[in-house]
Amino acid sequence: MHHKRSKKLQVAPNKNAQSLLILPTRLHQQVNISIKRELTRLDNRLAWRLYKLLFRSLIMLQLRPNCECCDKDLPPDAAAVICSFECTFCPECANGVLAGSCPNCGGHFSPRPVRPSHLLDKYPASSERIVKAP
Ligand SMILES: [Zn+2]
Ligand SMILES: [Zn+2]
Repeated sequence: MHHKRSKKLQVAPNKNAQSLLILPTRLHQQVNISIKRELTRLDNRLAWRLYKLLFRSLIMLQLRPNCECCDKDLPPDAAAVICSFECTFCPECANGVLAGSCPNCGGHFSPRPVRPSHLLDKYPASSERIVKAP
């Protein structure tokens, strides 16, 4: 009788101990997983913000505000030409005094694309005026 009781008492605490050991491990795993998920979400958000900043400052075409030759204003919707380095000129200078090639790099011109006006708030034109006499 005494032997049986002690066996029962021994078995029960062991089972409890096992489940007590398993429970915190599972909880810990679950917490770990959700923390990792949150961190990944944060990482993605930060990476996206950095990407957008880089895109805006480096990758996006600079819409320069003036002709680099005669300093005429060239708002984003004005006709303008650019070389591959984004040197920007009015069509009159490009076809006239510059004779179709960029005075800075010697390259040819292409028409500057017009940025859709609804994107100009988010991706504004450059305000830095550059003027170089040819
Ligand atoms: Zn010009
Ligand atoms: Zn150029």
